[in-house]
Amino acid sequence: MMKIVFATNNQHKLSEIRSILGESIEVLSLKDIGCDVDIPETGQTLEANALQKAQYVYDHYHIDCFADDTGLEVEALNGAPGVYSARYANMENGASDSHDSEANMARLLRELGENNNRRARFRTVIALIQKRNICQCGCTSIKEIHQFEGIVEGEIIREHRGGEGFGYDPIFQPEGYDQTFAELGMDIKNQISHRARAVTKLAEFLLKR
Ligand code: IMP
Repeated sequence: MMKIVFATNNQHKLSEIRSILGESIEVLSLKDIGCDVDIPETGQTLEANALQKAQYVYDHYHIDCFADDTGLEVEALNGAPGVYSARYANMENGASDSHDSEANMARLLRELGENNNRRARFRTVIALIQKRNICQCGCTSIKEIHQFEGIVEGEIIREHRGGEGFGYDPIFQPEGYDQTFAELGMDIKNQISHRARAVTKLAEFLLKR
């Protein structure tokens, strides 16, 4: 059976991808391969960060792997907070990069103010690195890199609504719905989310190989 590492220890992300991939591919977590370092994410784009994480695992553990990175891109803020979504509020006050969702949402609503352009999107990028044998015996191989993107368009509402989900969910309303991600709940969110879309593209790619 094909084995692949997902450079995460997030249980929700692991079960999401495992349920989409079914039994044909075994997805290992960082913990499963004995990796307990906090892999650096120092890139300035989602693409760079996803690749940096996948590259780290590939270089240190010599096993096929993929990694993801997600950001909320607000049109009126020129794509911010984007790659800095997790530490948006902390960047302002110089604190270390812990994830304070309430503070992040407060900053975003403040930056947007009364702006009537509320368009925003969540974007997930997955970077996959696979070793491909050139010669059937495996004596010569190359490293192949692929990227997959998932986007959900929507808008930033002016207040918080809903208690489910995480991050910016209470202020993000996906296009075509009149409830936020935090009101829609996991089942619907997982069908339409940026991450689900990127993961589905990855799964289609892996399963057809
Ligand atoms: P990560 O790359 O999945 O760790 O996401 C980075 C940051 O983007 C998170 O810390 C959240 O602030 C935000 N984020 C990612 N996905 C979601 C989501 O589905 N809902 C709300 N916020 C999210």
